[in-house]
Amino acid sequence: DIIQINRQEMSLQTWFEQTIKPYVEIARSQSKSMETSIRAAGKGHFDPDLIRQLIIILLDNAIKYTPKGGTIIFRVAKVRDNRLKIEVRDTGSGIPDADKKHVFERFYRSDKSRNAKTGGNGLGLAIAKWIVDEHKGTVSVADNHPKGTVFTVFMPLK
Ligand code: ATP
Repeated sequence: DIIQINRQEMSLQTWFEQTIKPYVEIARSQSKSMETSIRAAGKGHFDPDLIRQLIIILLDNAIKYTPKGGTIIFRVAKVRDNRLKIEVRDTGSGIPDADKKHVFERFYRSDKSRNAKTGGNGLGLAIAKWIVDEHKGTVSVADNHPKGTVFTVFMPLK
């Protein structure tokens, strides 16, 4: 359960805990709560800069599209077939089914967000998808119940 960062070795568990920490504060400062559950065993052959960027894109969106009082849940777990599952759940506006298949395209923003005050240029998720592809993983989007969105990433471990 080691990740190589600037020639230093750090456990995946510690790396995820440290990476996620500032976002718990950012969510809290906007009156949104963030729950985390990190159980990241196993060896990663990740590019830590890219995986950090991936997490930032998903969490930025989750926070941005969730109103005050909402909850964001960040989970990491080792799952079968030696894969790491990263899940970002929110209780925000949700993504209409018709938009779900397009959100990973460059410059795509749903009408809902284009019309809203939230900024953005529709590049985040295209970059996220590219990062996941680079790591031979998968990323998908679904409804959270009763409300909001869940993004799920699977990445092969070493
Ligand atoms: P940026 O490039 O700054 O991230 P963006 O958020 O518009 O801007 P993407 O991250 O690519 O771009 O997201 C594309 C679209 O998917 C968004 O415009 C929004 O409509 C929708 N979306 C993404 N994440 C969420 C979410 N957690 N809840 C609701 N809608 C979302």
